[in-house]
Parts: sequence; C-alpha cells; structure tokens
Amino acid sequence: MIFDILTIFPDLFTSPLNEGILRKARQEGKIDIRITDIRDFARDRHATTDDRPFGGGEGMVMKPEPLASAVQEIQKTDVAGRVILLSPQGRRYDQTVARELAQQERIMLVCGRYEGVDERFRAAYCDDELSIGDFILTGGELAAMIVIDSITRLLPGVLGCSDSAKKDTFSRNLLKHPQYTRPRVFEGMEVPETLLGGDHGEISSYRFIESVRRTMERRPELLRQERFSPAEEKLLRKHDLLVAVQRIQKEIIS
Ligand code: SAM
Repeated sequence: MIFDILTIFPDLFTSPLNEGILRKARQEGKIDIRITDIRDFARDRHATTDDRPFGGGEGMVMKPEPLASAVQEIQKTDVAGRVILLSPQGRRYDQTVARELAQQERIMLVCGRYEGVDERFRAAYCDDELSIGDFILTGGELAAMIVIDSITRLLPGVLGCSDSAKKDTFSRNLLKHPQYTRPRVFEGMEVPETLLGGDHGEISSYRFIESVRRTMERRPELLRQERFSPAEEKLLRKHDLLVAVQRIQKEIIS
C-alpha cells in the first residue's frame, strides 16, 4: 500500500517510520511511504505556504496553491489515491475506518498546520476528512502517523501472528480480555488458574467471558452493535451474563 504524506514538516516522520513494525513493513515492501514537502510547491522565493486570514482574526491559514500543486504532481502518477485531509472537523477515525482504508491501494494524507487549510483547497481536492478525536493538535502530522500505523498492522503479512489483528479490541465490538505473562505471581497477585491449565477450549471460553465483562464495565455502548452466536449465548447464560448483556443492548437502543 502506498501512503503519500503532504506536510511542511517532513522530518517529523523520520523516527516513527523507522522503528518496529512500520520499519519492517517498509523494508519488506508491504508499505511505501512517500513524503512530499509542501514548501517545494510554494510560488515565491521564501517558500511561503501560509498567509493571514481574509476577514481578520487569529493565526495563519495554509494557502491553497502550494497544496493544490503538490496534489496535482502526485496525481500525475497512474494510481491516484484518495485524498484525505486530517482535520478535527472530519469524520471520526476508528477501527472501522481503518479497515475500510486498508482496502485501498494508495491514500494521500494532507497535514494541516496553523488555523488549517484554505476552504477552497478542501472543497476542490479532498475526497475525505478524518479526525482522530475531539481535541486539537498543532498539526496533522501526528494524526497521519496514527492513521498509517493503524492501517499498516491490518495489511496481510505485516504482523508476525496473522490472528493478532483479528482478535484485537474493536475487531468485534468487544474489548480484548486481560493479558498475563510470567511471573506466575506478581506482588501477591496470581495469574487466573484457567490460563495455566492448557485446556484450549476452557481458555477460549474464559477469555470470551472476560472480554464481555470488560466491555460491559468500560464501554457498554459497544455491545449495541454486537451479535453473539448461539454457542456464545449459551456460554453467557452459563455465567449469568446473558440477561445483563441483553438489558444493556435494549437500554442503549431505546
Ligand atoms: N483552527 C482549526 C479548527 O478550529 O478547526 C484547528 C486547526 S489545528 C490547530 C491545525 C491542524 O492540525 C489541522 O488543520 C489538522 O490538520 C490538524 N489537526 C488538529 N486536530 C486534529 C484532529 N483532532 N484530528 C486530525 N487532525 C487534526
């Protein structure tokens, strides 16, 4: 998958893209990250990419021409990807959007700065706008990294264990069960007995129940979208959870 990034701060990406899973995915050719410095498309000798807002007011606004020229340059290549503006005003980025974008061959991420980008650039060049949450960052670069990181781990062959992404929190509308590793006893707290027994059926049931419990406690609204198989319902009933889950689902829906 190709990620194009449009930014005025290309160096911000150096370290995050050169560590861990992203580094390996790049080395193995699973992802190709192409960074474009918007300043290279500025039209004056000072490489100006921002200007004062018409109508007055605080801050600076990113000029439309350098952004448009940068997008046009990239779109000259054969597969032009979807152009996505990172913006706190965009649709909310979540795991469903990550899965949707992981199907694309190429996407372009436009990182705003200052008070944001000129509205005419947004209207004419952007296919989508994504927000990573209801808070304001100084620029779109960290948001772009979050988008790249979360999509990359969904791509085939990127994670060592292919099941890993399928069992993560949000792969269903459930939070993942708690995890334990050695030592068996830590500060007087023991690892749950079931996990030590080696019975894979028991372990899987235990984890499913803990996952549902955790979701009920922390994110009950997620259960609204969740559908359980007859075998899972049987298990929930056995642990006296089915009625509580159904009540939560009804309360949230009504
Ligand atoms: N003045 C803008 C507003 O009130 O909507 C905020 C501009 S913000 C300081 C500068 C840039 O950071 C934005 O253009 C966008 O690219 C990025 N940004 C800030 N918060 C973001 C968020 N929650 N999600 C995605 N991008 C964000």
